Amino acid sequence: MNQTLSLSNGGLFACLPAMAVLVLSVALLGGCESAKEEGAQANVEKLVVYSSRNEQLIKPLFEAYTAQTGVNIEFITDKEGPLIQRLKAEGAATPADLLLTVDAGNLWFAKQEGLLQPVQTAGLDTAVPEHLRDPEHYWHALSVRARTIIYHPDRVDVTKLGTYAALAQEQWKGRLCLRTSKKVYNQSLVAMMIATKGEEATEAVVRGWIDNLAAPVFSSDTKLIEAIAAGQCDVGIVNTYYLGRLIAKDRDYPVKLFFANQSTDGVHVNISGIGITAHSKQVAASTKLIEWLATGEAQEQFAGANIEYPVLPSTKVADLVAQWGTYKPQLINVSKAGELQTTAVKLMDRAGYN
Ligand code: FE
Repeated sequence: MNQTLSLSNGGLFACLPAMAVLVLSVALLGGCESAKEEGAQANVEKLVVYSSRNEQLIKPLFEAYTAQTGVNIEFITDKEGPLIQRLKAEGAATPADLLLTVDAGNLWFAKQEGLLQPVQTAGLDTAVPEHLRDPEHYWHALSVRARTIIYHPDRVDVTKLGTYAALAQEQWKGRLCLRTSKKVYNQSLVAMMIATKGEEATEAVVRGWIDNLAAPVFSSDTKLIEAIAAGQCDVGIVNTYYLGRLIAKDRDYPVKLFFANQSTDGVHVNISGIGITAHSKQVAASTKLIEWLATGEAQEQFAGANIEYPVLPSTKVADLVAQWGTYKPQLINVSKAGELQTTAVKLMDRAGYN
């Protein structure tokens, strides 16, 4: 669903209808550009964000930013694919200053497509751990999502759990459930496994998983968790916030979380993150917004709104998240998930993972 929400009117968007009519009118483009530059040089009053995070997760934050700084934020929400296509189609005429999306694979792709520009500040270098930002500073994480093992405590002895790879063992035959490989979350999980184990060993694991499936792959993490609760399978792999949502509704929800790979390379983590668009003329103001989102109270709210983890380790986490305890995360740079995504997709296809 494509939702457009404007927190303030006029300005940049007022340029757009005219642009659509006179697409290549140099004079008009020049007019909009210079208006943007003026904004950048003077006090910027408005930024435009394209966001694949939905409205209820970002609107309160942007309103808080506006209250503190006077900078209005207009945002458009949609799925990441259409937003990235839209940025491409709009080119230099895009009104967007920032792209906010989930999964490092998507941010990596946006960078590859030339849609982002780098930004490096001491503040961001401090706030965002190195493995959670683009090595060339084209994007930074704003929250961390852990993708880990879940299980039914009545049917699984927790001491038998260990690594993602171990779910390929014979003992899990007919007991494992997975979400579809079409979802970027699993492509990133497998990509990171390739980064640590190599392609051959990873393919053997994925084949083992498929052999162990108790049911056809699920279209969502939530359906997978519900299948474990219902007794269709005993173990699975999901992002923790999906379980968090179910537990928030029912404190006695009968599925538990296990942090994978704690004695090896750590839990697979991914991010939601943000980058400045290649054609933004408001780099300084956009940078300030990113710094604000990556630090202080914004971190607590940003991660808390979706039961995720903050990037800033000192940030307080939601009670539910705190109850799960701490975990050792995988420390490979998350951009690897993008780099190895095509390899991962081909591997999963070969292994019969739909
Ligand atoms: Fe999700």
